[in-house]
Amino acid sequence: MSFNLQTALKLANARMKDEQERRESDLRVNTGLLDPNSKEARLSRAKEQEKAVLDQIEALKWVRGQLKQHRLNQLFERLSELLAEQGKFVEASRIAVSDERREYYRSLAHAAAIPDETTCQCQPEKIYDAVKKRELTVPNEQILAEIYSEHHGEMKTLVKCRNCGLLNIK
Ligand SMILES: [Zn+2]
Repeated sequence: MSFNLQTALKLANARMKDEQERRESDLRVNTGLLDPNSKEARLSRAKEQEKAVLDQIEALKWVRGQLKQHRLNQLFERLSELLAEQGKFVEASRIAVSDERREYYRSLAHAAAIPDETTCQCQPEKIYDAVKKRELTVPNEQILAEIYSEHHGEMKTLVKCRNCGLLNIK
């Protein structure tokens, strides 16, 4: 918990420099100059929500009692989601509280860092098309989501091998 709190406070200090950028981006969304699904708009929204969560974490500094840890855990989980939305998967994995979430963000960090052309050794599935009387190849790669990758600096596709589970962001 102390590790999470320190990381959160560090983020709180660093966020000010993003503020100007965010305001300009907000202005462009509000004036219809920016597509709300664009990278800029998504990052701006996530940053805005991150700020609100960090404010709530800071406010809890003065709170005592049994519910504090529970509330902090919820806020850290939310913060980890917002960091992941900004493509900051390593930070997200450090902030997340549950093991599942930490593990998932670690695997996303790995997926972003490996070369885009990385593939697994799984053989594609072959199925026989009785009508066309020929064999068809079914790729193992499944598209899971379009996400922002800080490593790439742009929106990328998260893919997963149906067979071995290898994730790649490319
Ligand atoms: Zn595979």
